[in-house]
Amino acid sequence: MLADLQKALDQRQADGLLRQRRLLDSPQAEHIEMNSQQFLSFCSNDYLGLANHPTLIATMQEATGKAGVGSGASNLITGHHRYHDDLEKQLAQFVNMPAALLFSTGYMANIGALGALAGRGDAIFADKLNHACLNDGSYYSLADFHRFPHNDTEALEKLLKASKARRKLIAADAVFSMDGDLAPLKAYLALCEQYDAYLYVDDAHGFGVLGEHGQGSLNHLQLKSPRIIMMATLSKAAGIAGAFIAGEQVVVDYLIQAAKSYIYSTPAPPALSATLSASVTLIEQGDALRKRLQHSIATLKKHLDLNTWQLMPSETSVQPLLVGSNQAVLQLSEYLQAKGILVPAIRPPTVPKNTARLRISLSAAHSEADVIKLAQAINEAERELACRVM
Ligand SMILES: *Cc1c(COP(=O)(O)O)cnc(C)c1O
Repeated sequence: MLADLQKALDQRQADGLLRQRRLLDSPQAEHIEMNSQQFLSFCSNDYLGLANHPTLIATMQEATGKAGVGSGASNLITGHHRYHDDLEKQLAQFVNMPAALLFSTGYMANIGALGALAGRGDAIFADKLNHACLNDGSYYSLADFHRFPHNDTEALEKLLKASKARRKLIAADAVFSMDGDLAPLKAYLALCEQYDAYLYVDDAHGFGVLGEHGQGSLNHLQLKSPRIIMMATLSKAAGIAGAFIAGEQVVVDYLIQAAKSYIYSTPAPPALSATLSASVTLIEQGDALRKRLQHSIATLKKHLDLNTWQLMPSETSVQPLLVGSNQAVLQLSEYLQAKGILVPAIRPPTVPKNTARLRISLSAAHSEADVIKLAQAINEAERELACRVM
């Protein structure tokens, strides 16, 4: 086995696909210290700049003093603290859903919820560009797994029409994590009504960013239905960690009994929930932050001046620059890094072949000057690198 593993690593290295962890020596922010160097960063999903917010730091310290550092037991034994419970109620109210259930991470929420809501004899219909953990949740559920081309409502309808499954779930990212575009959730919900299916929406990148007061994609698209189950992580715009499922009370009640990643796992520390409560309040009051984020997006679009590379259509904080080849995107990322700017190169298998891209992630914490600096560096990089790569 060990020799096999080494061979697999060598192959990845040869294909330009070996991934490396970099060492962060500062809080997560727009200006960071990485591998002992200062960088302007467009890498984090901390879209509102809350990951190092003084109010949240103070809340965490205070809550730790009151509730300690560990949860000590799973939720169904003695680990369900009032801070966890208060946060669930606050989240449900914030996203305008009957109930919410807290998980430690988005990954665990998707695995646990899909695994509980679908099983043998059921079917999950999933966008091909869905986040990996929606796929893993679907595999884990043992339901029939049908993938349809990105945002292709017609293909989805054909699959639904042909399905004889007992229970049908449509699963999709609301905002696609590597593309930044939105799923046609309104059309999906209409299909749910027509084919007696349910809509499972992963709003990792819409929560806190889109909709009134940052309520998320469902509010942005004005969608409400007992057929909707939503998931959002609290590790992105909320700036901390954790995730929740929101939906009908019966869905949450059932997940408490049946979602294994909920039942057989210790909840995150209660102090984290108290801090998340403060974060949700900041999100709710954060219209000014969202305005700054929108300004960053507009500034980037205005100042990029490119011939071959292009920004993919997105109105969200995720602004991918389509470059194409793995080598070219790596060169671009390294070029920017040499100028003190960090932007991740995203390559297959995270995205389809020949669509390697720079995933520019904008935050309310970026200044206009930060964004202009990035745009100008990319413009220069294209002039210097594009011809060399072709
Ligand atoms: C980040 C992400 C997740 C996972 O959330 P974590 O809390 O980081 O585990 C799930 N779905 C999507 C679409 C994501 O982008």
